[in-house]
Amino acid sequence: MSPLLSTIPVAKPVLGEEEAEATRRVILSGWVTQGPEVAAFEKEFAALVGTEHACAVSNCTTALHLALMAVGIGAGDEVITVSHSFIATANAVRYCDAVPVFVDIEPGGYNIDPSLIETAITPRTKAILCVHQLGMPCDLRSIVEIGKRHSIPVIEDAACATGSEILWDGRWEKIGKPHGDIACFSFHPRKVVTTGDGGMLTTVNPEYDRKFRLWRQHGMSVTDAVRHGSKQVIFEDYDELGYNYRMTDLQAAVGRVQLRRLPELVAERRRIAAQYCERLSTIAGLTLPMEPHWARSNWQSFCVRLPDAVDQRAVMQVLLDQGISTRRGVMNIHLEGAYSGQSVHRAAAGLARSVSAQQETIILPLFAQMTDLDIVRVVEALRAALEEATVGAASVQPAMDIAVA
Ligand SMILES: *Cc1c(COP(=O)(O)O)cnc(C)c1O
Repeated sequence: MSPLLSTIPVAKPVLGEEEAEATRRVILSGWVTQGPEVAAFEKEFAALVGTEHACAVSNCTTALHLALMAVGIGAGDEVITVSHSFIATANAVRYCDAVPVFVDIEPGGYNIDPSLIETAITPRTKAILCVHQLGMPCDLRSIVEIGKRHSIPVIEDAACATGSEILWDGRWEKIGKPHGDIACFSFHPRKVVTTGDGGMLTTVNPEYDRKFRLWRQHGMSVTDAVRHGSKQVIFEDYDELGYNYRMTDLQAAVGRVQLRRLPELVAERRRIAAQYCERLSTIAGLTLPMEPHWARSNWQSFCVRLPDAVDQRAVMQVLLDQGISTRRGVMNIHLEGAYSGQSVHRAAAGLARSVSAQQETIILPLFAQMTDLDIVRVVEALRAALEEATVGAASVQPAMDIAVA
């Protein structure tokens, strides 16, 4: 790599003076966890996605756990989801002693294939946990209809989808309204907005929201805010098993600044994605991500499928040698050791598309601070790497012919 060329990471959070100033304000206020900043962040997040209730928690994994608990998932229940996701999606199901039932992804995309859901439903199916993978909205319209038809709640793993939108009854609506029963968001630095770590649950169901608030704070009957503001002595009760899934005010203060940045961040990411699509379209055999006409991705990740017979690892290494970081496509949970020997968790139709997506796709750098030069560098490096890989694959051919002869 030329010493003159800077390295291009796969992602980079946008954090600056305003976030630093916000945490300073919280530190000097003396109230540093689940206080006024968390309450304000929740209100602002709810307004952003157009919902009634937003409850902040420690991360999206804990949000998923509480969402599954709220719809009553317990031991032995089945939850229909995808294997082609980050492992936290299915881990949250297992925290409830329930069984994740994996169905395959759609052809040409990275989200659950709604046409495979109904065949996976059994009398034990108690929820559908769909994922807006890489920030691209999944086909919620079809999934919600299936949920209604079978009286099964729909939970959205919207970890990557803060700021993504879906066309609903002729209007563009934010993911998180929610269109299912509950949506869960992540504010990890790999996502579009970050609080370091952090998560959010949104719902229109006040009873769910009440439970989230109870469980995130040890099952404590009285919140700190109420006790703090009370003129009378209050004793709290603990009637149910709870958890410590709190978000701190330091995180929430950062989150509030990040939400103000969100429209600009998403616009910038969409501009970069459009540039990628235009420039990459001239690379033969490369399959670009597709945005359905009813979806607007925040482009949390930009995933391309390599031509057949190209070595994914070799291409990634060539790019890395030039200072360009990429990531392999989304993982397959069922292939990990933590899932071997688990009870039935595979839908009959198989997971061939999930597996090939992991093996044949790579995630290219995409972050708001990327310059046009960065984009061109990634595109041209990928073009050269693929030409090299194709020549390499072709030159193997005659040798094999000779060997056979
Ligand atoms: C990142 C991610 C999670 C986990 O989010 P955390 O906030 O790190 O717990 C869950 N599901 C998906 C699809 C993710 O991408």
